[in-house]
Amino acid sequence: MNPAPRGRFAPSPTGPLHFGSLVAAVGSYVDARARGGEWLVRIEDVDTPRVVPGAADDILRTLEACGMAWDGSIVHQSTRSDAYHAALHELRRQRNVYACACSRREIADSAVAGIEGYVYPGTCRGGLAQARKARAWRVRTRGAVIGFDDVIQGRVEHDLEKDIGDFVLYRADGVYAYQLAVVVDDAEQGITHVTRGSDLLDSTPRQIHLQDLLGVRTPVYAHLPVAVNAQGQKLSKQTLAQPVDRDRIAESLVLALRFLGQEPPAGLEAAGMNDIWHWAMPNWRLERVPRVRTQVFDA
Ligand code: GLU
Repeated sequence: MNPAPRGRFAPSPTGPLHFGSLVAAVGSYVDARARGGEWLVRIEDVDTPRVVPGAADDILRTLEACGMAWDGSIVHQSTRSDAYHAALHELRRQRNVYACACSRREIADSAVAGIEGYVYPGTCRGGLAQARKARAWRVRTRGAVIGFDDVIQGRVEHDLEKDIGDFVLYRADGVYAYQLAVVVDDAEQGITHVTRGSDLLDSTPRQIHLQDLLGVRTPVYAHLPVAVNAQGQKLSKQTLAQPVDRDRIAESLVLALRFLGQEPPAGLEAAGMNDIWHWAMPNWRLERVPRVRTQVFDA
């Protein structure tokens, strides 16, 4: 039997919600609700050095102002170290992870560029050289050719060893990597549908590899177009994207729906939040979402 549909929005609290992250919130929310499913919110504060104090609360206040009600309680990754540790331990028991002593510089000196940064050349794969100290833990990727059918973006296939390299699950600074945390949390929270920005499309084969090793279910993935500015840069704090204005939230919601290829009637932004969702749920068509990784947003 298929489990009940459950989606999630998993923001990193690195700043207030801007239009780009609102798109991911709206897409995951409407998609989950339109399936009659639950929608969870998880604060991805595992990368503590990047966390901005107050950002998580600010994001949640904006979601509330949007009238987006989440199910259950909010999970904070910063409280989940035990679960990540247990998963790493299991992979270690399987001998699918190994300690790595290489510094960034050493890797840069001997590696070729892959889909995302340098492809780890496997220096420590056979064990640490004498007098070398473990810095990070990496997962083996040898032989893992992972393909999946993204509902929006189509087929994606990676030969992980060649395209990415053995990737880090536990960082040299003592932080569990996003790739591990997200897999453990999606599995434990029973997420069936991951609808998120296409900036994570290339992370998905890595996540499926970990799901395979840990023996957990792979959710259905749908990667939404990412909003970029006229220069093609992702909207973010670095590109000075404006936070979503809680006083003009209806406008932003309708813009997000349009950005996702939906066709809300003219003037919907003048309606109340309830009316916007009453329009959005029954009219949501995933097949109308543009099948592109990025799309210019110039409001
Ligand atoms: N925390 C990630 C981000 O804000 C999203 C992770 C995900 O949806 O899997 O970019």
